[in-house]
Formats: sequence, structure tokens, C-alpha cells
Amino acid sequence: MLIIHFQIYTQMQQKTIPLVMPCPGINCPDKRATISEWEHASCFTQVFLKGNGNLLCKEGCTEKSICQWRFACARHQGEYRKPDFNALIDALGTAIRSTKAYFRDDKEGLQFLAEVQKNVFSNM
Ligand SMILES: [Zn+2]
Ligand SMILES: [Zn+2]
Repeated sequence: MLIIHFQIYTQMQQKTIPLVMPCPGINCPDKRATISEWEHASCFTQVFLKGNGNLLCKEGCTEKSICQWRFACARHQGEYRKPDFNALIDALGTAIRSTKAYFRDDKEGLQFLAEVQKNVFSNM
């Protein structure tokens, strides 16, 4: 049983989904009304969320904790903001619901979310 659990855990840590969520930036005036697909400003490629809580871009130029990225949505273009803890937790729930097709079922989506949240809780 322990081995099976460990496999699920490591699979979740390596799984990636496209990052589709509202802006988690501090005091963002959008107040998480708009759900967007995110891209990396340095390379203009799509950003993915990994089960270990890291974000990485398609180009592969950066991979680090979602807490260490800075976000600029259409409401504050070019002004990169740190994620707000509550806004990020809320936005991640939306991210999972927006990418249901990437998960076998709701349970897998929630397991993925739990792993990402562990990273957020230890990095903020
Ligand atoms: Zn990049
Ligand atoms: Zn914003």
C-alpha cells in the first residue's frame, strides 16, 4: 500500500497542466474575475503548472515555485506583482476546475491541487 501511495505521489509531482487561472497578484483590480491562459513574458510561450507547485514555461527557460513568479494581467500590464496568498489559493482552485480534461477524474484533480498547495504553504 505504501508503495502504491508513493507512486501516486511522485506521478502527481511530475504531472503538468496548462496554467489557466485568474490573476493572483497582490491587490489586482480584476479581483479574479477573468480567467486567462498565462504566458512567460521572457519567451512568450505558454506557462504550465507542475504537481510539485512549480511553474515552468514551454520554452523551459524558468522553473520555480509558483510563489516566486510575478504576475501581470491585462489590468496592470508590465507591472509584475507578487501573488497574494489568499488570491493564489483561490486561483488554484479555479485552475484545477478549468483544466478538468487533464485529469482522470475529480479525485485526481484534487490530489494534484493538494500537492500544489503544499508547495504554496511552505513557500509563502
Ligand atoms: Zn520562458
Ligand atoms: Zn492582475
